[in-house]
Amino acid sequence: MTLKDWARKKSIWVFDVNAASCNGCDIEILDAFTPRYDVERIGVVLVPSPRHADVLLVTGTVNAMMKDRLKTIYEQMSEPKYVVAVGACALGGGVYKGCYNVGHGVDKVIPVNLYIPGCPPRPEAIIFGILKLVTGEPPDPKEEE
Ligand code: SF4
Repeated sequence: MTLKDWARKKSIWVFDVNAASCNGCDIEILDAFTPRYDVERIGVVLVPSPRHADVLLVTGTVNAMMKDRLKTIYEQMSEPKYVVAVGACALGGGVYKGCYNVGHGVDKVIPVNLYIPGCPPRPEAIIFGILKLVTGEPPDPKEEE
């Protein structure tokens, strides 16, 4: 493992985009970053700019209006970068599938590394997904005590 890989494993910066969701998934994402889960203890931090982020969390159906904006945000991230589609809408349109302005998932617009299903997924699933993606292994809760 290189020094950069080791450092990244201990410091995962996350940016999230609501690409036309009902807000349910975003509430769960924000819940994951509250003191209740305290993800900062394992190095996961929400950042205000995609330029600073390692991981992009995307929620929602990616409608026509958001498509180009999502591409722009993705291009602003530096390598290596990871994209996580959060919730049924981001995976394939969810309950809005078939509506006139709804896309068929984030992966039709930008490459996706990980899919977290659910409507909405729980904060535990979101945290597990981020860590699994970047570190290749979930955290051991006993190790953190
Ligand atoms: S998956 Fe469910 S909670 Fe998430 S944006 Fe879609 S409808 Fe809302």
